[in-house]
Amino acid sequence: MLHLLTSSRNSGADGAQSRTSTRSIINVAGRVAVGGRSLAIIAGPCSVEGREMLIDSARAVRDAGAVMLRGGAFKPRTSPYAFRGLGEEALDILAEAREATGLPVVTEILDPRQLQRMESVADVLQVGARNMQNFALLSEVGQSRKPVLLKRGLSATIDELLLAAEYILAAGNPNVILCERGIRTFETATRNTLDVAAVPVLKALTHLPVIVDPSHAGGRAELVEPLALAAVAAGADGLIVEVHPHPKEALSDGGQSLTPDLFARMVERCDAVARAVGRRVMTGRDGSVTPNGTPSTPLNKKQGKTPGARPGAKSGSSRLREEPWPA
Ligand code: PEP
Ligand code: MN
Repeated sequence: MLHLLTSSRNSGADGAQSRTSTRSIINVAGRVAVGGRSLAIIAGPCSVEGREMLIDSARAVRDAGAVMLRGGAFKPRTSPYAFRGLGEEALDILAEAREATGLPVVTEILDPRQLQRMESVADVLQVGARNMQNFALLSEVGQSRKPVLLKRGLSATIDELLLAAEYILAAGNPNVILCERGIRTFETATRNTLDVAAVPVLKALTHLPVIVDPSHAGGRAELVEPLALAAVAAGADGLIVEVHPHPKEALSDGGQSLTPDLFARMVERCDAVARAVGRRVMTGRDGSVTPNGTPSTPLNKKQGKTPGARPGAKSGSSRLREEPWPA
C-alpha cells in the first residue's frame, strides 16, 4: 500500500527493520544522482540577496565541491518583519547562477500556487520544515516530476515525515529526497537537535535517499562541520549547507553560514569520513558538473526512478549512472 516503506517491498520476518535492496536514486536535471555511493553536497546562501552575491557564492561552492546550489527566493520566516526573500527577482537570479556555473538549483516552494513558476527555475523543489505537513503543497509537488527535497518538520516524528513523503509519492512523484535538519527538543544550546539516528532509521524504513542539513540543526557556524561529519558517518546520502561570502552581512541565518573557505575544509573532511565508510563525496570529476559548468562524464546510473522532469518538460540530456548504495 505505502509507496515508501521497505516493509512492503522487502519484507523479512521483521519487515519494517529490513534494509531495502532496491534503493531509489534520484536524478537531478540529468546531472547529479542522489542516493548512490557518492554523496551529493548542496550549498549556497540561506536567501538569495542579490545577483552578485549569489553568483559569487555559486562559483565558490562549486569550486569547493558542491554539486548543487541552494538559495531561498521565498523565505518562510518566523517573524513577518524579517527578510522574506527577493521573491520573483531571486528566481531570475537563480536561473542566471545555474547558467553561469552549471549547478542545478534547489529552492523552496511555499505555496501550491507557485508550482508552475518554480518548475521553470528549480531543479529541486524544497519543501521546508514549516511546510512538512502542508498537505495541499505536498499534493501539488506530487503533480510535478521535479525532485522534491522534503525537510523534516520542527517537531515531526519519523513516521510523520514518512507519511508526508507518502503524500508526494501517492500523488505520482517518486522523486523524493528526505532531509533531517534537526528537531526541537528541551536542549537550548543548539538551534535544534540533530537527530543523527534518523539517518539509519529512515534508510532502513524507506528506499528514498536521506540527506542532512547541519546548518539549521546546529544553528552556529562552528557546529556545521562536526555535525556534517557525523551525518556522513551515519550514512547520509548528502548534505545541504548554508554558505555565504560574508556571513556577518547575511540577511538571514548568517550565524550558521560557513565562509567558502570553511566550507571547502568541511567538504574535504567529509570526503575523508565518506571514504572510511566505503563511499566518497561526489565531485565534478566523478560525473556531476565540472568546474566550468558543463556536464562531465555522465554518472553511471541505472535509473530506478524517472528523470527529474515533468511530463512535457525538457529532460536532462546526459544520462546519470550511479551504483546503488548499499549494493
Ligand atoms: C532553509 O533551508 O533555509 C530553511 C528555512 O530550512 P528549514 O525549513 O529546515 O527551517
Ligand atoms: Mn536558512
